[in-house]
Amino acid sequence: MEKQRSIPLSAIPFFMIHAACFLVFLPGIWGTTTTKTIILAIALFVIRKFGITGGYHRYFSHRSYKTSRFFQFVLAWLGGSAAQKGALWWAAHHRHHHKHSDQPEDIHSPARDGIWWSHVGWVLSPQYNVTQYDQIKDMAKFPELRWLNDYHLVPIFVMGGLCYLIDGWAGVVWGTFVSTVVLYHTTFAINSFCHILGRKRFPTTDDSKNSLILALVTLGEGWHNNHHFFQGSVNQGFYWWQIDITYYMLRALSWVGLVWDLKKPPQRVLALGRQKNITDAMVERFTAASDKLGKTLAKGPEAVTAIGDMVMRPTSPDPTA
Ligand SMILES: [Zn+2]
Ligand SMILES: [Zn+2]
Repeated sequence: MEKQRSIPLSAIPFFMIHAACFLVFLPGIWGTTTTKTIILAIALFVIRKFGITGGYHRYFSHRSYKTSRFFQFVLAWLGGSAAQKGALWWAAHHRHHHKHSDQPEDIHSPARDGIWWSHVGWVLSPQYNVTQYDQIKDMAKFPELRWLNDYHLVPIFVMGGLCYLIDGWAGVVWGTFVSTVVLYHTTFAINSFCHILGRKRFPTTDDSKNSLILALVTLGEGWHNNHHFFQGSVNQGFYWWQIDITYYMLRALSWVGLVWDLKKPPQRVLALGRQKNITDAMVERFTAASDKLGKTLAKGPEAVTAIGDMVMRPTSPDPTA
């Protein structure tokens, strides 16, 4: 399907939320911004980001763990308060991405459609407003989830009201506008930059990459190449040093019984990832050694003689000499 790349009028609210962030410089807002305001904004970032990463992504899109009908609604509500449309809309498009990653059918491939389109252009396009219910039949059978998907703006307005009650207009500007814009771009960066920047640990057929920096700002979603290779895993950081805050939060929720049956990657996948790492290291060393040899040879015949002497020289003194 041909992509409609012009920016429609329906995108105006999205740009207005960005513009509203500058309200922090108004004396009435700046003057009433306190430590409480900043803590509120950070807390709302973390809680709502978890709604996206732990809810929209790892639960609704991939079913990588189990939970109750009540708590899945809580997750859908939390994700909804991040203003990234409904859980069913989000998860259906994401499943489609995994089926066609970086292929012509992929809706947001930076290699095919550029960074702007993969980052945000496709989200603003009215072409993709409709929920692809055929991709998400398992979750669409719950009427409360369908309702929240249709009225996905309800959680963000409720949250805006709570921000006002907790910390006045400063709470609204920081907690709703600034925090939401940061949420947008950290989430979108997985679709754009995680298919461009970073390292490829696993041999996937797409351009997905692993990035520690993106993993830190997205509570663990930056291990995107791991995720594309084994998408059913609840943890996207496969090794102890791959920081994955969403997974730690889900582990904590499992201890109190709110979630269970967390699916982990099998040993063969973990072993393959380690092996790839070793191969990469060997290739890097060989390339560095070749570069060094090339530079030495470029210096001229004396350098070649020096290398010859070096190669022929015994590694330890000859005791019989
Ligand atoms: Zn991807
Ligand atoms: Zn995914």
